[in-house]
Amino acid sequence: MPNKVSARVLNSATEVLRKKLGAKVVHTDAAMLEAASYDSSRISVRPAAVVRPTKRAQIGVVLELANKHGIPVTPRGRGTTLMGSAVPIQGGWVLDLLALDKIEIDAEAGLAHVQAGAKVGDVQRAAAAAGWFYPPDPSSKEYSTIGGNIACNAGGMHGGKYGVTRDFVVALKGYLPTGEFVEWGTATRKFAAGFNLRDLWIGSEGMLGVVSDAVLRLIPAPAARWTLLTSFADEVSAFRAARALFGARVQPAICEFLDRYSVECAERAMRTTIFPGQPGKPVILLELAGSEAELADAKQAVLAWARAHAVGHREAKTREEAESLWAVRRKCSGAMFQMGDAKLNEDITVPLGAYEEFAVWLEQLRVKSRLAIPTFGHLADGNLHVNIMYHKAAPRECRAAERAVLALMKKVVALGGAISGEHGIGLAKTPFLRMQHSPAQVRAMRAVKDALDPRGILNPGKMFDVFEVWKAPRVAVSFPWDHK
Ligand SMILES: Cc1cc2nc3c(=O)[nH]c(=O)nc-3n(C[C@H](O)[C@H](O)[C@H](O)COP(=O)(O)OP(=O)(O)OC[C@H]3O[C@@H](n4cnc5c(N)ncnc54)[C@H](O)[C@@H]3O)c2cc1C
Repeated sequence: MPNKVSARVLNSATEVLRKKLGAKVVHTDAAMLEAASYDSSRISVRPAAVVRPTKRAQIGVVLELANKHGIPVTPRGRGTTLMGSAVPIQGGWVLDLLALDKIEIDAEAGLAHVQAGAKVGDVQRAAAAAGWFYPPDPSSKEYSTIGGNIACNAGGMHGGKYGVTRDFVVALKGYLPTGEFVEWGTATRKFAAGFNLRDLWIGSEGMLGVVSDAVLRLIPAPAARWTLLTSFADEVSAFRAARALFGARVQPAICEFLDRYSVECAERAMRTTIFPGQPGKPVILLELAGSEAELADAKQAVLAWARAHAVGHREAKTREEAESLWAVRRKCSGAMFQMGDAKLNEDITVPLGAYEEFAVWLEQLRVKSRLAIPTFGHLADGNLHVNIMYHKAAPRECRAAERAVLALMKKVVALGGAISGEHGIGLAKTPFLRMQHSPAQVRAMRAVKDALDPRGILNPGKMFDVFEVWKAPRVAVSFPWDHK
């Protein structure tokens, strides 16, 4: 239920906050309010103030005051979430963590001590400079923050072999919705002292606490990498081949699938054909990583697999050649706007055993909906990006897209998969939460929320309250990451 805070209370609390923290931290100018009103979902609601702390303790001050007066607070990193989870849907204050962005690498222990606003790409570069590797790599890594990645449990192409953000968080510091400071874990990898609330915060979409600092685990940087592009007769054959690869105990660092529609989009955008003479074939792009010795055996196994299952394969002989193959993968998402001016980017998961059944069903959905639905994704962890493309000005397509999402969610749950593998629920997936979770499960999640946030001030209106996504006010903005 919306928090009923009056304009009078909100305005006077905002003035109190400005007196406590200063005008350089508490912003009410129109440009700041507008910029904090939306995220990549483009749903838009203006907050009353944007608070950008420059010191960790200021987070506690904000939350304590908000909790006292029942003011909604929406934590925010870079606003790259596609789910509306960073939109201040009930107004109030946006707590923007971007100014807290320090990174320190403990090269001996293989740990990164980072503040929530640090950019993921910067953490990776700092780790690499010390000979370490931070594997979680959402495509948004040059924009998104560690705090946002932790709140969404972000994944990426490396997920299958190395894991997702959760697998690299050793400890967290931050604030409860009441404004009290807490530390979940220490900079020791083992910690068995009490309930593990660190893991409860990871993936909680900023609804259970605000992360100020994190200790992240690093791994030694792999010495060598090798890239192979393979093409298949059709999508079902590609999925079947992937199962054979994992069944043969081969663990690629990256294993990306692009269906024939995604390949066609990328090829058109790049004005190239990746397998000359073989248009319109789905591909699997693989990267092996490890020591030269580890790679030698794995390469032979992968080449034997390619000869047995693929209709074509192309090995990158140099790093530049590998980069040109990865460019196909990077281009495909943006290039899909050739097929419609609006995209529903669904990030479902499908269990390995259901891959072929899902591929057949998805083709039927394309035919039935008469929509373009290019699909790509991370095969090693079953996380597929199903992109439902439509034209905003075409009412038939809008209705068909809405129905296609509903059918997709039902199907993945029936197959034993998940309605979200990495983007979360936010506002956009609230209509489907109860397909994934039983009433008892939803009650248990709500009980946790109520226990930690008794006044319901932290990122309210998300996850549990069913939101009418299609009717939401939207802004027409263009992000730098739209063009990547
Ligand atoms: C082009 C593009 C590519 C993407 N690729 C991927 C991908 O490959 N994998 C993937 O997983 N996601 C991907 N995403 C989604 C998005 O980038 C991730 O969810 C990312 O983790 C969001 O980080 P952010 O800093 O932008 O957080 P925001 O969008 O600002 O916030 C996201 C959520 O985290 C909460 N939050 C933010 N900071 C904190 C904090 N310090 N404490 C508590 N809560 C906080 C917010 O309240 C909100 O609920 C992509 C998005 C885009 C636009």
